[in-house]
Amino acid sequence: MTALKPAARYPAMNDPQQQPRYTGIPTFFRTPLAQNLADADIGLIGVPFDGGVTNRPGARHGPREVRNQSSLLRPVNTATGATPFANHRVRDLGDCWVEQPYELQGALAEVEGFYRRVVEAGIVPVTCGGDHSIAFPILRAVAASGPIGMVHIDAHGDTGDDYMGSRYQHGTPFRRAVEEGLLDPARVIQIGLRGTSTIPGSLWKFSEDSGMRVMPMDELHDRGWRWAVEEARRVVGDRPCYLSFDIDSLDPVWAPGTGTPEAGGLTMIEAQRIVRGLMGLDVVGADMVEVSPPFDVGGLTAFHGAGMLFEILCVVAAARTARTSAAPSPSGRGPG
Ligand code: MN
Ligand code: MN
Repeated sequence: MTALKPAARYPAMNDPQQQPRYTGIPTFFRTPLAQNLADADIGLIGVPFDGGVTNRPGARHGPREVRNQSSLLRPVNTATGATPFANHRVRDLGDCWVEQPYELQGALAEVEGFYRRVVEAGIVPVTCGGDHSIAFPILRAVAASGPIGMVHIDAHGDTGDDYMGSRYQHGTPFRRAVEEGLLDPARVIQIGLRGTSTIPGSLWKFSEDSGMRVMPMDELHDRGWRWAVEEARRVVGDRPCYLSFDIDSLDPVWAPGTGTPEAGGLTMIEAQRIVRGLMGLDVVGADMVEVSPPFDVGGLTAFHGAGMLFEILCVVAAARTARTSAAPSPSGRGPG
């Protein structure tokens, strides 16, 4: 399709990712918007839903603001050399918006239906939330054929239970996922957990009892990001896994715009290096959630959210390269 404003002097700029970064209508990383599932290998999906938050709302505004800030990023990862857009059709699939946002379980069912279509089309979903409750219906689609592992980076374990009458909110997705056999807890690691609690004793009892590897923030702070990477690789192994990144894992200095901030968290460079260290894991789906623009300061949280989404995308793309070069898909659709 010829652009209304084609580049005459600098032909390379006909690629939207080469155009000045302050131009154009924002999609995730200035990727093409696709509405046809046959057009994508990796799908960047916004889920503007925050019906599952237990405290400060606003994550429904996350995808739009992260798209905006993501236009500041360039396509090559200079730290790792990754070029996620080069060998995969990475597309912005738009938003999985919810028709009945006031009916929580119905809303999560809508999200599940959308992701089932995406996964059945052979697309690897990379999500921008939205609150963390959406990870449960996404896992129902991504782990439809059996339990998978997970690297979960968060200030919170999100393995709570009923809260004020609901078992499905952003503090419970991974407990529900274990109960349904979507996650193999022995292959799950939770990194960066911390904060205060309303009850004495461990706040992460379900995680620990089910066999998850819980790495509280103090342990990470003592032993460093390399230790977190080592443990994540050991726990998850080389079989399929999901990668879930809650922006509140970052210290509120880096990410003030989120619903349930906790002091004493990861720096941005620690989070980047942990995710970069996951390169080579068989990541079959991922998310970056809980950016709440109404609580943000100068776009800082959305910008860091976009930066983490990019690191996550690089790991997802490497995993897809490994899968497609090992076994071409039945449709014959190799890296495009
Ligand atoms: Mn969370
Ligand atoms: Mn959290």
